[in-house]
Amino acid sequence: MAATLIDGRAVAKAFKEEIAQRTQVMIAQGVTPHLAVVLVGENPASQVYVRNKENGCIKAGIRSTVIRLEESCTQQELEDTVKRLNEDESVHGILVQLPLPRHLDEAAVLRLIDPDKDVDGFHAMNSGRLMNGQPGFVPCTPLGVMKLLEQYGIDPKGKHAVVIGRSNIVGKPMAMLLLAANATVTICHSRTQNLAEITRQADILVAAVGRANFVTADMVRPGAAVIDVGINRVDGKIVGDVDFDAVAEVAGYITPVPGGVGQMTIAMLLANTLDAAAKRGR
Ligand code: NAD
Repeated sequence: MAATLIDGRAVAKAFKEEIAQRTQVMIAQGVTPHLAVVLVGENPASQVYVRNKENGCIKAGIRSTVIRLEESCTQQELEDTVKRLNEDESVHGILVQLPLPRHLDEAAVLRLIDPDKDVDGFHAMNSGRLMNGQPGFVPCTPLGVMKLLEQYGIDPKGKHAVVIGRSNIVGKPMAMLLLAANATVTICHSRTQNLAEITRQADILVAAVGRANFVTADMVRPGAAVIDVGINRVDGKIVGDVDFDAVAEVAGYITPVPGGVGQMTIAMLLANTLDAAAKRGR
């Protein structure tokens, strides 16, 4: 393997230790950071994600409450739950696990979350702040990618960063953060033509597509930093969007899956929760 492996597990571990220390300081000052997660239905992947978030909180000393609603729950029930959490002074961070069952209106629920408790950074107020370069909550996965780049001394300034994917959760905020870090940013998506031609120009290539082995070695410029956000299940195994073995021979840096970006997502969620608690000061 020619590329340097970006070890998300090690970086996340260091972040989590720092978060645990900050949590202890806050608790000693009388504030127990508290994250409330709302999980609707039985989606197996969501159950795993929520369990990991819960464990992350517990290990860091952050209070965690998981509210489980039936798959058949109504929009009103879900909205009432969010409103109750908005009003609950002991709750600093609120996260509604996505995707929601199809009969529920995701956008309407996200709009309801108090932007000051929106630790996922999905509320339009926080997306707007990110767009305008104002402080606010930034979505955890792209924020985690920026921290990984920073830890490995990969400065986006003046570089060409190509993001594959334009979701509100990963692709768009990722592009905004890279832009804020002075990269020249190209966003590619399902309608992009000549994708490989564009990705080959990337100094930093971020794949957030959701398709196993989507990024092949011929799509990567030699020496590029390749960041794999994808999480795909193939034959019971978790793999990313990047054809890891082949791309690692060409890239300068590469994140593995698992053990890369995913590890950082939870660390950033905990950090956002702590920031929310610090702002409230209670
Ligand atoms: P999404 O389905 O909302 O978006 C996928 C994007 O890929 C779309 O914008 C689409 O335009 C683009 N795309 C699809 N086919 C394409 C093609 N042929 N060429 C170019 N672009 C194409 O998914 P998402 O929520 O943004 O997540 C993307 C991936 O990242 C998924 O695998 C998801 O599981 C993973 N993910 C990982 C983490 C983490 O913590 N590591 C967090 C969130 C999402």
